This record gives sequence, structure tokens and C-alpha cells, in this order.
Amino acid sequence: MMIIDGKKEAEILRQEIKKEIESLKSKDNKVPGLTVILIGDFAPSQIYVKNKEKSAKEVGINSNVVRYSKEVTEEEVLKKIEDLNNDIDVSGILVQLPLPSQINKEKIINAVSPKKDVDGFNPINVGNLSSGYNALVPCTPLGCLYLIKKVEKNLSGKHAVIIGRSNLNGKPMAQLLLKENCTVTIVHSKTKDLKQECLKADILVAAVGVAKLVKEDWVKKNSIVIDVGINKVGDKIVGDVDFDAVKEKSKAITPVPGGVGPMTIACLLKNTLDCFKAR
Ligand code: NAP
Repeated sequence: MMIIDGKKEAEILRQEIKKEIESLKSKDNKVPGLTVILIGDFAPSQIYVKNKEKSAKEVGINSNVVRYSKEVTEEEVLKKIEDLNNDIDVSGILVQLPLPSQINKEKIINAVSPKKDVDGFNPINVGNLSSGYNALVPCTPLGCLYLIKKVEKNLSGKHAVIIGRSNLNGKPMAQLLLKENCTVTIVHSKTKDLKQECLKADILVAAVGVAKLVKEDWVKKNSIVIDVGINKVGDKIVGDVDFDAVKEKSKAITPVPGGVGPMTIACLLKNTLDCFKAR
């Protein structure tokens, strides 16, 4: 059994990104730029943005945060996005979610240029990913695939089961695994027999938001188990998988915290670098 060390893998990826940025900088003295738009004072968003900014700076990305009060108008945010789309020094734009109720999320996501869409949420990128073309891919599933491939390079023919069908996690994860020639099943809250579906998985990805939903007897022996969930239970953070019970049965498993989480930010940096290189 292997416990997949997401912190270590994220550090390796960040170092690779840093090296590449240094090498690009030595050629024309230009570095990637990431602008985050942060609206309101929602505490978790403040923490995420602070971490993103710090990680970006550490690898040499020119990071900038545009802050608005929660009363800002949709028009003002759309105007800012338009300016950033046209700014040659901005390689990537990220609008931190959730947004206040007066701002239409769909309009905002559509406004970010697909070429600068480091979150991979713009429908152009979603469509490209599902068509099997090159696309900017949401950071968390991208990080999950990276970790899965650290365990096994060739995923062809594997049965992957994904719990959750969100645009953020479940759906793009399914597309990525399909591209790797997996047989993919997506299960969700309306699925009839969740346990039986999960038992088919060579690769099981849980992106649900229900603490310890996945039990030991839901998991096939020697499978790869990726836990995306972040759930607060008392003063502890736990995943969607009952880690202690499942770990002995799996071939490889991600812990929470220290598994998928660190990879999400590392993949945001990777997407920003890719946007910069594609200019
Ligand atoms: P979401 O949008 O709420 O989607 C959850 C999905 O799980 C939905 O498809 C829902 O089904 C399904 N679901 C809910 N309860 C279920 C149940 N009892 N059985 C089967 N399926 C069930 O959540 P999300 O944004 O994808 O996030 C999922 C989890 O990942 C959360 O804990 C979140 O905090 C975490 N997360 C972690 C990272 C990271 O970096 N590690 C990043 C993002 C999110 P329906 O569609 O039928 O409602």
C-alpha cells in the first residue's frame, strides 16, 4: 500500500515550474502574470487567494490581486475582466468563487478569455476538453490525474469510477480519464447502488463533500483511491473516504489533508505558465 504524498509531488511540480520560468526569463526578461479577482470578505476565499498569491510569487510568477467590496456591480467586474483580457502582461485570470448574489457567475466565467482561463471554467475550454482537444483544465482534476499517473503511467482499459458530477471536479475528471482510455462511470446523489458501482473501480475518485462516505467494503482490492473531499468534522479536516479503514485495501491512496489539496495550487501555477507559453 502506498500513501500518495501530495505535498511532495506538488513541491516537485512547483520546482519544475520555477526552473522553466527562470529559463524563460533569461531569454527575454518576461515572466508569467496571474491576476486574481477577489470580491467580498468571505474568509475561506481570503485564505485561498493568499495561498495562491504566495505560491505564485515563490515560482517567479508576477502575481496580482484585484479586490472589490461585496457591493461591487457586475458591470464593474466585467469591465475589469475585459481590461485584463487585453493586458499583455496578464497571462492568467482567476475570479475567486463564490460570488455575491448580484453577480451572475455564468457571465463572469464566459467573460474571461479562454486563453487566460487558468481555472478551465470557460465553456470553450470545457468543450475543447470534452472533444479531446487541447484545453485549460480545472486545477483539481488536473492534480488528481497527475497523482494517479505517479502510481500508474498507463491507465488504458482501467475502470474509473468518479463520485460527484460537478463542473469543478467530477465532470472534468471523467473527461481526463476518458482521454487516458479508461472506462469511466460517474456516480452521484441519484445513483441507485453507489457501493456496487464503486466496487468496480480500479481507480476511484471521490469528489463529494460528505465526510468518510466511502467505506472499506466499497473499495476493490488494489485500487487507486483519490480523495478530493475537504470536510470539517469538529476541529479536524477529513476527506470523503474513510482513510484509516480503506488504506490497507488500496494499492495507493491520497490522505486528507496532504493529498489532492496541494496539487490544486501547483496546477494553477502550471496553467498560468502554459497560458504564458501559448501567447
Ligand atoms: P459539489 O459541486 O457540491 O458536487 C458534489 C457532487 O457530489 C454532486 O455531483 C452530488 O450529486 C454528489 N453527491 C453529494 N452527496 C452525495 C452522496 N451522498 N452520494 C453520492 N453523490 C453525492 O462539490 P465539488 O465542488 O465538486 O466539491 C466536492 C468536494 O471536494 C468538497 O468537499 C470540496 O470542498 C472539495 N474540493 C476540494 C478541492 C481540493 O483542492 N482538494 C478543490 C475543490 C473542491 P448531485 O449532482 O446529484 O447533487
